Amino acid sequence: MDVVLEADRLGKRYGRTWALRDCSLHLPAGRIAALVGPNGAGKSTLLHLAVGLLKPDAGAVRVFGRSPYGDTEGLADIGFVAQDTPLYGDFTAAELVIAGGKLNRRWDAGLARNRLAQLGIPPDRPVGKLSGGQRAQVALALALAKRPRLLLLDEPVASLDPLARREFLQSLMGSVADAGTTVLLSSHLLADLERICDYLIVLNAAQVQLADSADDLVAGHRQLIGPRHDGGPIGGVAAIVRASHTDRQSTLLVRTDGPVTDPAWTVREVGLEDVILAYLADGSTQTSHDEWGVPA
Ligand code: ADP
Repeated sequence: MDVVLEADRLGKRYGRTWALRDCSLHLPAGRIAALVGPNGAGKSTLLHLAVGLLKPDAGAVRVFGRSPYGDTEGLADIGFVAQDTPLYGDFTAAELVIAGGKLNRRWDAGLARNRLAQLGIPPDRPVGKLSGGQRAQVALALALAKRPRLLLLDEPVASLDPLARREFLQSLMGSVADAGTTVLLSSHLLADLERICDYLIVLNAAQVQLADSADDLVAGHRQLIGPRHDGGPIGGVAAIVRASHTDRQSTLLVRTDGPVTDPAWTVREVGLEDVILAYLADGSTQTSHDEWGVPA
């Protein structure tokens, strides 16, 4: 398995507070990975470490086998769209495409221009005067024109309305599928991520809670409903991730290591959203379903 991004006990600290701690994970090539977690979980910190904007205080991060901090050559392979898509607002999209050509070796100006034309984005208007969705599309077009092997996107759709979000994610999927680009995308909008991502990294309170393929996560978890559980072992259950109880009944979200055959339990399949929320509720940051864009 080709690994694009690898973190080994990676840590970043601000003063005495760890923004990211003991982060170990790997991202296989060709994946569209979601980086999920509540505000302050450490998502931007991980992305900034991966693109070399921050220097680790502990452990290591490698992208295509290289340490990104101070590695200007390695940066040619990485596209990064920062939060709120900062662009020089007085420049037009056409001017930004030309500027990109002067700053990047493998620049595909035609690709950027075609994308912007297809999306109907005016090339001659200052980007500061475009809508949020249009600005996000300009930032994505510029990132793709770099023809990166890894594309990192920090909350790219946070400020967009649902329709613009869907259009943005669809156009992202179309372009990366053709080029075989690996993508790591942070967001707190679980429903969007479930639709487009095949790999998942969950961060909570500076620590990795989960990092695995979406299919394996869904296949390896179940919801069990049965008589009130006293905490004893259940055949086929490796760990109880989250439990809620009434006087007589328990509802458990469990990680399985085999079939659950005890007839006392009703066994249900779970979705990716259920798994993510269960692991997040287990962490120290309390998060309501509402905050996550999931109908309560
Ligand atoms: P997320 O992207 O998941 O919202 P961040 O990576 O931005 O989280 O932040 C992780 C933690 O690090 C938060 O507690 C945040 O307050 C802190 N942090 C981030 N950047 C700085 C900074 N420049 N100075 C001090 N603390 C910071």
